[in-house]
Amino acid sequence: MTSPLTGRFAPSPTGRMHAGNIFASLVAWLTAKSTGGSMVLRIEDLDPDRSKPEFSDALMKDYEALGLTWDAGPFFQSTRAEAYHDAYEQLAEACGIYPCFCTRADLACASAPHWGDKHVYPGTCSHLSTDEVAARKAAGREASFRVRVPQERIIFSDSVQGACSQMLDEECGDFIIRRKDGAFAYQLAVVIDDADQGVTSVVRGVDLLSSTPQQIFLQRTLRLPTPAYAHLPLLVAQSGRRLSKRDRDASLDEMLARYGTPAGVIGHIAYVCGLQEEDAPTTPEELLKGFKPSTLSALYQGIISIPWRA
Ligand code: GLU
Repeated sequence: MTSPLTGRFAPSPTGRMHAGNIFASLVAWLTAKSTGGSMVLRIEDLDPDRSKPEFSDALMKDYEALGLTWDAGPFFQSTRAEAYHDAYEQLAEACGIYPCFCTRADLACASAPHWGDKHVYPGTCSHLSTDEVAARKAAGREASFRVRVPQERIIFSDSVQGACSQMLDEECGDFIIRRKDGAFAYQLAVVIDDADQGVTSVVRGVDLLSSTPQQIFLQRTLRLPTPAYAHLPLLVAQSGRRLSKRDRDASLDEMLARYGTPAGVIGHIAYVCGLQEEDAPTTPEELLKGFKPSTLSALYQGIISIPWRA
């Protein structure tokens, strides 16, 4: 018997729930609950421009309406600056952090290699002198802050994607830990929160797979535990059952209009993803009866190919 896992639903309050995060939050919930575990709800409202309180409320209502539950939280990242700041100081001490003045346009022009969806930072600002930094600041240029990464290969096993590995310096590069607007970066916040909130199971979309080596590197440097990871394929196709583009992008409201009830929406997503045989209404509780975490790898293995999969 697996020991109880603590999973999480960690939406950014920038919109309503949609097919992609309904799928991820359903599987996160099933994974935790099938081990007798619990769920944490965390609102990732780090980005002051994009996060809206009304979306936090709507997301929580959407999540509950689907029959999904949480046992701890909601925790709000916007209230956690002190914890992130402590970690930032520790990282500065352990690895070194430096100001980076590059703009998005600079990075796009740099002949940096891509690794999957990720730009590899070419190290443009990594060796600026104190005078060079002062001159840029005096010219009114704003800096983000990057942590120096070592020449180290991060290897981990993802319960959906299998063995993954990434060379930090060549395939990622020094990465942003504090943004130009002063907000701590997602990579740092998520690592501190997962540890402080006791999260042991991270289930999310494969679009975040390339962030995982960065997060594991931060966990190791800060001596925090590494949760189990499961990166779900994007909702594209499964066993020939194709989700239409409208399905993929659909908000919960649109899906409710199409499938009638929350149970209709859960049932459709569960069917498309191979969690049930029929396209019929169901609830998370019903699906839990037949769900085992070990079926995850069998269901999804090989659907999405990731350039850096081992
Ligand atoms: N807040 C992110 C999102 O809504 C999820 C981050 C994560 O699962 O690590 O896409």
